[in-house]
Formats: sequence, structure tokens, C-alpha cells
Amino acid sequence: MQLLDGKATSQSIKLELAQAVEKRKKEGKKIPHLAAVLVGEDGGSLTYVGAKVKACEEIGFKSTLIRLKSDITEFELLTVVEDLNNDDEIDGFIVQLPLPKHIDENTITLAIASKKDVDGFHPINLGRMMLGLPGFLPATPAGILQLLKRNNIETSGKHCVIVGRSNIVGTPLSVLLSRNTPVGNCTVTLAHSRTKNLVEICKQADILVAAIGRPAFITAEMVKEGAIVIDVGTTRVEDASRERGWRLSGDVDFKNVAEKCSFITPVPGGVGPMTIASLMINTLEAMDFNGK
Ligand code: NAP
Repeated sequence: MQLLDGKATSQSIKLELAQAVEKRKKEGKKIPHLAAVLVGEDGGSLTYVGAKVKACEEIGFKSTLIRLKSDITEFELLTVVEDLNNDDEIDGFIVQLPLPKHIDENTITLAIASKKDVDGFHPINLGRMMLGLPGFLPATPAGILQLLKRNNIETSGKHCVIVGRSNIVGTPLSVLLSRNTPVGNCTVTLAHSRTKNLVEICKQADILVAAIGRPAFITAEMVKEGAIVIDVGTTRVEDASRERGWRLSGDVDFKNVAEKCSFITPVPGGVGPMTIASLMINTLEAMDFNGK
């Protein structure tokens, strides 16, 4: 078994992006500027946004963190989004999900200008992805593609089973991997909670992606010998042995599955850092989309 090291792979992407920033500086061009909007105090969201801001610092991007109280109204948040849409200094921005229950996430996503939607969640960007047109790809699926590409994993002709059909991971990944592109040409099965014979279906996978949010759900009996296993799941589980009292768990029973597969992503250190690297790629690309 070989570890698909998202941390190391994302580090090499960040190095390339840092070089691109240096080049832009020498040419007197604008430095990419990412803004992140964080509503409330959710511990997970704070960690994710913190990691995004840190990545900007490492690469040399500018970043702005906008923290808002959890009782902000939907209208007030829409005003913040509109201001960012109209701010020429900001090249791309994200509104960290999940949002408090009284705010409709779709309303906010739709309000973000598609040319600044570096998370790739806006219908225009998802539609462009469907058609194979240039646009921002959703960060997690794009990160998985980069991970496969940069670790020389052939995808063409492989059967990929994706468990989980969310709009931000499973569904867009199923589109990207089935397209006629260098990291694509898979035959894709998209499974979900109503799928029958899930064990049998997963066992057929050359590439198995778990994006479910259930710790250690994918067990060794569900994995074919020699399969490539990508674990997207990140769930906080209690762990008394850690000072903070919890650890992050993936959707895959890592210890037992690792003995059977050819490649596997760890949690943490697999898909998570690749998601952030993709967000950074999108932020640099925003300069082109916005003609800067
Ligand atoms: P989600 O919206 O939480 O949906 C979960 C999906 O799993 C749904 O499609 C659901 O099916 C399916 N599912 C649930 N129970 C199942 C079962 N018993 N059998 C088969 N399928 C089942 O998905 P998400 O937002 O993609 O998040 C999934 C996980 O990935 C979470 O742990 C999240 O924290 C993590 N995540 C990590 C990153 C990263 O960068 N590492 C990024 C995004 C998400 P139905 O549609 O039928 O309900």
C-alpha cells in the first residue's frame, strides 16, 4: 500500500503558486486577493477558514477574513456579499459553509458573482463544468483530480465508485471523472443512502471514493484487492487520548482497508489539504477571469 499524501502534493502546488505570485510581482501585476466570510463560531469552520488564510500567507496572496456574528440576518449577509462582488481589490471570495439555520445557503451561493466564486459552487460554474468550459471547479473534486494526476494514477477505463452525492463533492466528482479528459474517462457509479447492494458495488471499484460523513463506514470487506481508495470524510470523533478530546475521522476504516488497497489517502493529510490547494489555484485563475 502506498499513501496518497495530500499534504506533500498540496505543498508542491503551493510552491508553484508562490512562484507565479513572484512572477506577477516582477511584471508589476496585481497580487491575488482572497476574502473569506465566516459567520458564527463553529469550531470546524474556524479551523478550515484559518487553514485557507494560512495557505494565502504561505503563497504570498493577500487575504481578508470577515467575521460576522451568528445572528446576522440573511439580508445583512447578502449586503456583505454584494460589497465583495463590487470590490475590485477582491479577486475571489468564499462564504464558509455551513451557515446558521436561519440563512438559506442557496440564496447566498446564488448571490456570489460567478467570476469571484472561487469555491465553484455557483450554478454558472457548475454548468460550465458540465459542459467542459473554463470556469471555477469545486475545490474538493478538483483537489482529488490533482491528487490522482500528480501521483501518476491512471484513471482511463477504470471503474470509479463514489459513495455520497452531495452538490459539493460526490455529484461534481462523478461528472469530472466521467468526462473525456486526461484525469477522467472513468466509468462512474454514484452511490448514496438508497443504493442497494452497496458492499457488492464498492467491491467492483478500481477507484473507491467515500464522501459520506460516517466514520469508518467503508470496511475492508467493501474494498477490492489493489483498489485506490480516496477518503473525503472528516468527522470529529471523541478521543480521550488527545488533549483537545477529539480527532478527525475519515469515512474509511483506514487500518484494515490499507492492508488491501494499492493507494489510500490518510485523514487528516489527504483530501483536506488538496481542497485548500484547489481553492488557491482558483484564486490565481480568478485573475485571468477578471482580466487582471
Ligand atoms: P453530505 O452533504 O454530508 O451528504 C452525505 C452523502 O452520503 C449523501 O449523499 C448521503 O446519501 C450519503 N450517505 C449517507 N449515509 C449513507 C449510507 N449509509 N450509505 C450510502 N450513502 C450514504 O456530503 P458532503 O458535504 O460531501 O460531506 C461528506 C463528508 O466529507 C463529510 O464528512 C464532510 O465533512 C467531508 N468533506 C470533506 C472535505 C475535505 O476537504 N476533506 C470537503 C467537503 C466535505 P443521500 O443523498 O441519499 O442522503
